[in-house]
Amino acid sequence: MAVCALHGIGVSRGYAIGRILRLQRDQTEIVEYRLSLHQIDSEIERFKRSLSFAKQELREVRNRLPDSLPAEVGAFVDTHLLMLEDSLLTHAPVELIRSQQCNAEWALKTQRDKIVQVFETMDDSYLRTRRDDIDHVVMRIQRILQAGTETSDAVVANRFSERIVVADDLAPADTILMQHQGIYGFITEYGGPLSHTAILARSLGIPALVGIHNARRYLQDGEIVVIDGQHGVVLAGLEPELLTYYQHRQQAEQRRLQQLRAFRHRPARTLDGLHITLHANIELPEDITAALDVSASGVGLYRTEFLFMNRHTPPCEDEQFEAYRDALIAFEGRPVTIRTLDLGADKQVDGGRPDRPLATNPALGLRAIRLCLREPNLFRPQLRAILRASVYGKARLMIPMLSSIQEVTQVLQIVRELKQQLQEDRLPFDPQLPIGGMIEVPAAALCADHLARNLDFLSIGTNDLIQYTLAIDRVDETVNYLYEPLHPAVLKLIHMTLTAGHAAGVPVSLCGEMAGDTQYTRLLLGLGLRHFSMHTGSLLEIKQIVTHSNVDGLRQLACEALQSNQPHDLMSRLTGP
Ligand code: PEP
Ligand code: MG
Repeated sequence: MAVCALHGIGVSRGYAIGRILRLQRDQTEIVEYRLSLHQIDSEIERFKRSLSFAKQELREVRNRLPDSLPAEVGAFVDTHLLMLEDSLLTHAPVELIRSQQCNAEWALKTQRDKIVQVFETMDDSYLRTRRDDIDHVVMRIQRILQAGTETSDAVVANRFSERIVVADDLAPADTILMQHQGIYGFITEYGGPLSHTAILARSLGIPALVGIHNARRYLQDGEIVVIDGQHGVVLAGLEPELLTYYQHRQQAEQRRLQQLRAFRHRPARTLDGLHITLHANIELPEDITAALDVSASGVGLYRTEFLFMNRHTPPCEDEQFEAYRDALIAFEGRPVTIRTLDLGADKQVDGGRPDRPLATNPALGLRAIRLCLREPNLFRPQLRAILRASVYGKARLMIPMLSSIQEVTQVLQIVRELKQQLQEDRLPFDPQLPIGGMIEVPAAALCADHLARNLDFLSIGTNDLIQYTLAIDRVDETVNYLYEPLHPAVLKLIHMTLTAGHAAGVPVSLCGEMAGDTQYTRLLLGLGLRHFSMHTGSLLEIKQIVTHSNVDGLRQLACEALQSNQPHDLMSRLTGP
């Protein structure tokens, strides 16, 4: 068999070796054919078998959900189970098979289109969101119809276990469920390195590739492939010797990670004695454990969006309070920076999604702080929850996607009002809760001096800062090649922010993916960055680089990088010892 190599974008480092499982999710790939009369009964049987298989699959998912996941994830699975009992999805397709003499997939697709049509005419936004659930349930049955149900119960329970999943795209919630079933890696046909799913793969330590077009056409179910998550390659049809070679590389990678553990309890101090803070970015409850395991000095970015996923209504104040309180308690007095909701663009979740049509240009639309200021019912409970939790540790509140000082003024005013309310309600909070803002929009970097005078800290979100500076949608794979952290404009904005923070005596951290990318550590140190926040998977490696760096020597190099219109030329010197 010839070796086949497919190239995409490696979004999560590591090697995965395993068998392919393709997920067919789009309706367009459904085969449609007419049956002869004598085939009808067996086709109905086939449809009914796939229904009970789908139920069995969902029950397994339900039983295996870890306690650490919010209760809503379970409720979401229950809703799908209930839908699988509904006559609209059980009897109606059977009637269609009988009356139209069509195959089960076709009958199900016809019925799905009918249901969706009804949903689309509804005024009720809640019911309209149920349309997505219908699609998820229908896709599950279609997938089973296509794959066949001749598999044993044990296989259902471990459907994704030890598999390399190939899909058109994966939602963050799918990724979480698959990780709990023990997938080895995933490949998607669409998506970019900064999509929420890619960030999640890194934080969960799953080797992953995105942007491999037609991957489901080239890769076959059950064949063994190797994923190289760093270089963005998937290899199929490997001879046994080559497979052994990759198994050795995988083991070497595991040994390297094991050796890095020696850095867990070492201070993050440079050769010339500067102390660098290495915080973790967290979003899922298990990220807390992972961050503590690598001895992160705190949390520089708690993405609270996760609390709003897989549900149709936002979490109430009490539920949020408990989540923030638990994180603060777990970090035992180390700082935990809770970022207020950053919904919008690629972070579309059900809970809290406002009832309005999708913007034509969502990245420039009602996102993050803009959405929160527009939706007080979403924002105020979150701020109250953060304030209430603040007495359980060293909380910090962070505002995403600031573009003007007026937004800061508005947030500070709301926080003042809420503090007053809490006092009246006799609920404790930290009156000194530090409030900081993210520098993610060029306007914010250019006005970082003003922002620094009104805030307690700044944090540079390079994922968005690069997107907005270079005018490239971070999830659009057709322009991904333009995404360049070393672009002189990006480096200037980072430097400008660091300088403004320094002048105002306000700490500046960097919590975009650049902070966890070893290629840039020495450059960032040279530019003056002292506070890094990253996914936990790279924290120890970054600490290793920090402990081997002499910042004094790096300043000159960083200065040259700032002057250069080809900073890439300096990379060999910046990544060297
Ligand atoms: C960023 O933009 O760099 C950032 C950290 O925020 P997010 O990736 O969640 O948008
Ligand atoms: Mg951002």
